Amino acid sequence: MNPRSLDHLTTIILRDILNWAAEYLKSHNIPSARLDSEVLLSFVLNKDRTYLYVNSETRIQKSEVRRFKEFIERRGMMEPVSYITGEKEFWSLKFKVTKDTLIPRPETEVLVQTVLDIIRSQKSEVRSQKSEACLERSLKVKNLQSPIFNPIRILDIGTGSGNIAVSIAKESPESHVFTVDKSDSALSVAKENAIIHNVAGRIIFLKGDLYIPFNPPGPLFIKEGKERLFDIIVSNPPYIPTCDIEGLMPEVRDWEPRWALDGGKDGLEIIQKIIKDAPLFLESGGFIAMEIGFGQYEEVSRIISDIDKFHNIKTIKDLSGIERVVTAWKR
Ligand code: GLN
Repeated sequence: MNPRSLDHLTTIILRDILNWAAEYLKSHNIPSARLDSEVLLSFVLNKDRTYLYVNSETRIQKSEVRRFKEFIERRGMMEPVSYITGEKEFWSLKFKVTKDTLIPRPETEVLVQTVLDIIRSQKSEVRSQKSEACLERSLKVKNLQSPIFNPIRILDIGTGSGNIAVSIAKESPESHVFTVDKSDSALSVAKENAIIHNVAGRIIFLKGDLYIPFNPPGPLFIKEGKERLFDIIVSNPPYIPTCDIEGLMPEVRDWEPRWALDGGKDGLEIIQKIIKDAPLFLESGGFIAMEIGFGQYEEVSRIISDIDKFHNIKTIKDLSGIERVVTAWKR
């Protein structure tokens, strides 16, 4: 349907423009045509979706029609809704996103939840200890060397929109997060998100690939005469095998940053690099938590065991039952 097919109408009401948009998107093979039309119209009107139902007879202004049509045409070219609106909800927070950042996924909330669960369980463990000696004993039994203390030093590798760092910082006021990304534009989006959510004072943004900002002789290598170490390393690395990228949904394949998705030949190239150097930057008793792709757990757990610096390797499933997060503790 031609986007100009509404032009003959002198007054346009919400119901008509929504029907037009849903038809238009359907004819462009957008599976969630109706929902996307509603989301985009509520965005243009700055109202929630219920408003559209309750006020279906309400007239829409010319300038709003123009903007909405432009959005619908972009969606018709498979551009993801989040890039059109410039936002995505993650961990019940609204995140700014651009084409330089991956759009945060619900699976990644499992990673955030996992890290927060561990922080909380360690905190309550420390609180419940009656004496130092008792704490020592309990850590020994669990084969942990040190509990997580205040402040919790976290490194988020490949921060993108900053969704992981900001969500963790927001929920855990004792955490200080160092974020790293090789894209300047992604880092500025992450900074904006930290400011919007009032956690910018506890997040540091560093440009570089993986651990580069912390390598000698970088300014961040040494702190107070000691190598800089973290209690937690967290990452949602690119993990899709290069040969699978072509088969992805067009809106992912053609719109989202390839470097944020492509994990090399077997999908494990970056995961492997992160794991290999993690022991250099992790405190004893600290842990690494990483998102992984479908069917990668066994191989990732083998990579972790092989470097012989970790123990207690675990996996956490997402809502579809896929092993989505792997955690391992530094000896
Ligand atoms: N940390 C961001 C996210 O989880 C970006 C991850 C990435 O670019 N691979 O969405």
